[in-house]
Amino acid sequence: MAYLEERNRAGEYLRLALTYIAKYNLPANPVNYTVWYEYVAGKNMKLKKAIDASLDAAKPISAGNVEILYQKYVADGDRIVISRLLTKIALMLKDITGHVLETEGDLAGHGKNLGELADQISKAHDYNEIKDVVDQMIVETKELVDSGKRLQKRMKISSEDLKQLQQDLEKSQQEAQTDVLTSLLNKRGFEKRFELERIRAKQNEIPFSLIMVDIDHFKKVNDSFGHLVGDSLLKSIANLLKSHLRKNDIASRYGGEEFLILLPETGIQGAKAAAQKIRDTLATKEWKLKETGKPMGKITVSMGIALYKLNEPEEALIKRVDDALYLAKNRGRDQIVTQDELM
Ligand code: GH3
Ligand code: MG
Ligand code: MG
Repeated sequence: MAYLEERNRAGEYLRLALTYIAKYNLPANPVNYTVWYEYVAGKNMKLKKAIDASLDAAKPISAGNVEILYQKYVADGDRIVISRLLTKIALMLKDITGHVLETEGDLAGHGKNLGELADQISKAHDYNEIKDVVDQMIVETKELVDSGKRLQKRMKISSEDLKQLQQDLEKSQQEAQTDVLTSLLNKRGFEKRFELERIRAKQNEIPFSLIMVDIDHFKKVNDSFGHLVGDSLLKSIANLLKSHLRKNDIASRYGGEEFLILLPETGIQGAKAAAQKIRDTLATKEWKLKETGKPMGKITVSMGIALYKLNEPEEALIKRVDDALYLAKNRGRDQIVTQDELM
């Protein structure tokens, strides 16, 4: 979570957070501090709900409980993965520095020996003395070359580790933006793409549309057939959405049973046609339980559609598409409402 509040307000949150820390006799460490700061700032709604529920139920607030709240609602995946990667990088840097320093020591030692040999040769009197010096030179230079080779070998290993690290980083970045259940983008992934599309739309002066899809009475599916069936239905709907979209369209699982689709270079009418195709397909589909083949009844969705106005903030557009969806629900579900129908 980014902390953008002004200094005065941040100071007030700090004071309030410390009050809670004192009240529950918690150690004033960064974990406690962060949890209570986010709680009093009131922007982390899930955290607030969880704490309020505990307070309402008069459950004890212990340091252990706060730690759990921190892991669950504050320390997002990114922070945990990044700190793991940073540890790995720090270890590798230490390793590489160690190799270099060791080689540097070797080089300095052999350099010194060679210097002494230069002294000796200037004082040599016969062939035997010269031969001795040359023999030692061969040994010393060979040591130098070997030490260089050892470094080269170690550096090769390090650069392989670095490549692996790069891949890990890319993979965890991707994972952090993907919904595990449906393999669609998650909310965070959507927001990243949304930013890019906003810039593109601005450059080309071609707007895009959003469709927000919410499954109707999804709770009933869970209640009647269980959560696992609900999950499997979510996957099927996600696949159905994907199969109706163009390659450039961006589909995401934005919330529990809510999907947000961005259609680049598409106006309201285009988006409505896409939404209509989804609705038509659902209307003809017979859903059955996998194991028993028992029919599950019809599944419908409600959809809201909004068009991006150049330069408007993301929240304004999301609010409009959400309002359109809400109207579709209010009008009885299983329908499409565009922003033009909003007051
Ligand atoms: P409405 O037509 O008004 O949208 O009714 P609804 O029942 O679909 O809406 P509501 O928002 O009341 O409930 C959404 C339900 O979706 C509640 C929640 O248990 C369920 N849900 C959210 N995420 C998941 C999930 O990942 N798996 C399953 N199985 N259910 C989920
Ligand atoms: Mg729903
Ligand atoms: Mg919903």
